[in-house]
Amino acid sequence: MTRFIFITGGVVSSLGKGLGSAALGALLQARGYSVRLCKLDPYLNVDPGTMSPFQHGEVYVTDDGAETDLDLGHYERFTGVPAKGTDNTTTGRIYTSVLQKERRGDYLGATIQVIPHITNEIQDFIREKDGTADFVLCEIGGTVGDIESLPFLEAIRQFGNEVGRERAIFIHVTLLPYIPAAGELKTKPTQHSVKELMSHGIRPQILLCRADREIEKDERRKIALFCNIDEKKVIPALDVSSIYEVPLTYHAEGLDDEVMDCFGIKKSKKPDLSKWEKIIQNIKEPEGEVKIAIVGKYTNLADSYKSLNEALIHGGIANKVKVRLDFMEAEIFESENPEDYLAGANGILVPGGFGERGAEGKIKAVQYAREKKIPYLGICFGMQMAVIEAARNLCSIKNAGSTEFGPCKESVVGLMTEWVKGNATEKRKASTDKGGTMRLGAYPCHLEKGTLVRDVYGASDISERHRHRYEVNMSYRAKLEEAGLRFSGLSPDGTLPEIVEHKDHPWFIGVQFHPELKSKPFDPHPLFVSFIKAAVKQGRLV
Ligand code: GLN
Repeated sequence: MTRFIFITGGVVSSLGKGLGSAALGALLQARGYSVRLCKLDPYLNVDPGTMSPFQHGEVYVTDDGAETDLDLGHYERFTGVPAKGTDNTTTGRIYTSVLQKERRGDYLGATIQVIPHITNEIQDFIREKDGTADFVLCEIGGTVGDIESLPFLEAIRQFGNEVGRERAIFIHVTLLPYIPAAGELKTKPTQHSVKELMSHGIRPQILLCRADREIEKDERRKIALFCNIDEKKVIPALDVSSIYEVPLTYHAEGLDDEVMDCFGIKKSKKPDLSKWEKIIQNIKEPEGEVKIAIVGKYTNLADSYKSLNEALIHGGIANKVKVRLDFMEAEIFESENPEDYLAGANGILVPGGFGERGAEGKIKAVQYAREKKIPYLGICFGMQMAVIEAARNLCSIKNAGSTEFGPCKESVVGLMTEWVKGNATEKRKASTDKGGTMRLGAYPCHLEKGTLVRDVYGASDISERHRHRYEVNMSYRAKLEEAGLRFSGLSPDGTLPEIVEHKDHPWFIGVQFHPELKSKPFDPHPLFVSFIKAAVKQGRLV
């Protein structure tokens, strides 16, 4: 029997609902249950693929090629369950589907309305997960009180009624702000938020209260009284120094016990949390520190590179070192000397990116890493820039560039127009719609013998997730290889370059895919483990 847990958020956004859901998923797993997590986003975009990373943070790509909300990254990192395209939906997607059905005549002449047609479509998304796991956790994006959330709240209310209390519970995440002048945490916004939720017919059984300091017993009692919630189910969710501590702290506060209690599950095993304890021990007692320079362009919103940041931390956990991330705007290097900024870095990373702005600065950062023999990891755009750098500075192809920046005499990187997906060929043109049309999701890659990557992976064939529209032009391969840039990973048919590496460099790898999407704290990605190891070594040399 599948049980459903709905997670809503109140008071303000950015409370860490996604993280909380992921942590609860991990706790249920630790008790021996299977879990599936999904996210319902009230915004109108069909998917976050076309949204700016500045506004919405990273786009998380699944194996099956969906561009999804970054919370799915938290879910996968905490539970190890590979996220699927069907784990995320949006108002845009729900309406698209309803309107398609209306055009087809599926509704047999009915007047199409938010209730029941939109709310039914939302429930279908949830119901489809029935039977796929012991617990299905559904996070509702946004904040209770938003206009866009209303159909989602109505849908989960109806769904909860339909399956009954023993199969569906509601958890509400709120904030207790600290007011210095009063010297206390305030419960009023939480009371109002629960009231708002109740006005939609949803009574939360558990409150997860975010706060930056201890919540006194009196305050918990007050919240319980005013919000009509069992006092033990008012759970403090205090700030912690590492997100990987969250499962442990939530457990200590009784979250998973209370979830069991809500469902009337009496004989659940105690969770085995040793995996999380070990991770925290490695994070809290590092044996050293490395500094990684990330040369990008979405550097002022930490969420833009969410999975990347985490994957680097995982690499640190595996090497028992703290990884200090030093974000730099690539554009700086267009007017200033990279030496002034990069001299202290133990590793340099150019992450994924789009568009011309900052590209020349990234190429300068690549050149610096190559010449100074500093470990370099180029991801997607970072690989493309590494190839352009080699073409210009090692092969003397002065006009080497990418057609992503406009017409180009030597298009070392060009638009992908055709590639193989399974048994079919995908085709694209410059005029194709932007949404959902990149080369997306998991594709296999063969690693050449005698290369660094083959060593790093300890395997000859791998599968990694992609999200790109441009590719390195194979007609330059021979010239580049002659100059020392080896094409060490290729698509199985040998037509698409997937990985490049410099022969005469201690650690220089560019990958066309996004390895960060598959890294987990308890199963760190080999590329990040090896990159951080090389950075540790470099740190000892300087
Ligand atoms: N803009 C590049 C492309 O579309 C790189 C994409 C990325 O880094 N994810 O190919």
